Amino acid sequence: MTQLPSNFTRRPQELQTRSLFKVAIVGRGFTGIMTAIALLRTIRRPFHLIMYDPQQTVDISKGVSQSATTLLNSRVRDLSVDPVVRNDFSRWLEAEQRLADRADGERAGLDQSFVSGELFSLYVHQRFSEALQSRTDVVLQICPEIVTGLNHSEELGFSVGFGDRQNARFDAVFLATGYGLRETQLEGRTGPVGDNVVVIGAGVRAVEQALRLLSVGQARHITLISASGFLPQSHARSAVGPIVSEEPLPRTLRGAFRHLRRAAEAANADGSGWQGIMNGFRSRAQELWQELSAEERGRFKRHVRAIYDSHRNRLPPEHYERLHRAMEGRTITLRKGKIERIATNGVLFSGPAGLEVLYASRVVDCRSRPTDLDSPLYRSVLRAGLARRDEVDLGILVDCCGRAVSKPQRFQGLFAMGPLGLGSLPDIDLVPEIVTQGHAAAAALDDWIEQITLAEPSRSDK
Ligand SMILES: Cc1cc2nc3c(=O)[nH]c(=O)nc-3n(C[C@H](O)[C@H](O)[C@H](O)COP(=O)(O)OP(=O)(O)OC[C@H]3O[C@@H](n4cnc5c(N)ncnc54)[C@H](O)[C@@H]3O)c2cc1C
Repeated sequence: MTQLPSNFTRRPQELQTRSLFKVAIVGRGFTGIMTAIALLRTIRRPFHLIMYDPQQTVDISKGVSQSATTLLNSRVRDLSVDPVVRNDFSRWLEAEQRLADRADGERAGLDQSFVSGELFSLYVHQRFSEALQSRTDVVLQICPEIVTGLNHSEELGFSVGFGDRQNARFDAVFLATGYGLRETQLEGRTGPVGDNVVVIGAGVRAVEQALRLLSVGQARHITLISASGFLPQSHARSAVGPIVSEEPLPRTLRGAFRHLRRAAEAANADGSGWQGIMNGFRSRAQELWQELSAEERGRFKRHVRAIYDSHRNRLPPEHYERLHRAMEGRTITLRKGKIERIATNGVLFSGPAGLEVLYASRVVDCRSRPTDLDSPLYRSVLRAGLARRDEVDLGILVDCCGRAVSKPQRFQGLFAMGPLGLGSLPDIDLVPEIVTQGHAAAAALDDWIEQITLAEPSRSDK
């Protein structure tokens, strides 16, 4: 267990660590680190924070962009870790002039440019370490453990399990396990040049991988497999903000998407581009989602999600152009279909014409996996009734602050953050939404601590 310097200026005995409010964060990807920053900035009382993740190094750029050196697909203006100071990242880039020079901002202002995952990671870590240094009353421990179980009792609070061991008494637990335990990273791996490499996935990560393998000479040809047949669209060349029409949004899935299509067509016709309309729609998506019936949410997952994702997770224009040039030049072939099996010599592919073996010298799997609710950790959480599956089976049922909604409805101190809440909160896998949620969760926890302390004065007197 590594104990990070916590720069105590008070005498340790004043901290009474035994009675400190104890918080666990499971997962140290972007969501876990962001939650920690928000807690450090918000919680008014001293507390003890333990972060679990088997990853030895804290490198959030691996989660936000699988290869740290590739460009992120969000503009600088959308990557602030401060929900109020929306230009915090560009300010940081400006202050670090050396780094600002490396931003891809020649045509656009810094706010509108795209930067690498590496720069974003440096920024987030600096803000994390500043937040930590400003809290001389917080104990932080980083533990390289895989959490395999979670339980709760009224007397002991939460106990976190690691195989057959348990660490008892946490007052609050934040689950921030995102896309699960990471497999060995394939991205940096080099090998013999492949005549045909199969890249599986329809998102920005799959496209980035395909372009990277071609550009470093690791593949002569890529077969890109998209289950829906869709690939990410392009950002507008010049940044556009959210355009929100004054018309109320229809309250049904069909009505809302018809409204979106009409507005996007009108924006394309007047030259302003559909991206601003999509940004505006996204800002109202949560409101719409709450109104949809369970049946409509299921229909969204089955029929609309793939096309929605291809329009919200967009590629920087240069990458979009490279992708389409490679498809026209036949160095990338797009195939629509499902992968039945990944084999040593390629994949068993199920397309419109039936089953087919696609031979490949290498297969790179870039599908984003939803939360694995069958993992030991989530099996224990669900079995103990601490949380419930959302109705479209994408993750955990949460409210807007990430509080797990369990039966009975009483909040017990469990949060499920970021992509874990995708079935309850649309877009909660994106940086701006995770930042807002982290701060809302920290404020909710702070209020809860105050209520508990008032209800149990002995706790603060200990
Ligand atoms: C390639 C890519 C590019 C992206 N680019 C952008 C972008 O430009 N803009 C944007 O807004 N969003 C982007 N996103 C989306 C967004 O940043 C992600 O949703 C976010 O990174 C999710 O972070 P996370 O911490 O929740 O999950 P992860 O990054 O998956 O981290 C989860 C962590 O939890 C740990 N963990 C899992 N299970 C356990 C366990 N049982 N015990 C202990 N630890 C555990 C894992 O080891 C891991 O470190 C991108 C996503 C990807 C994949």
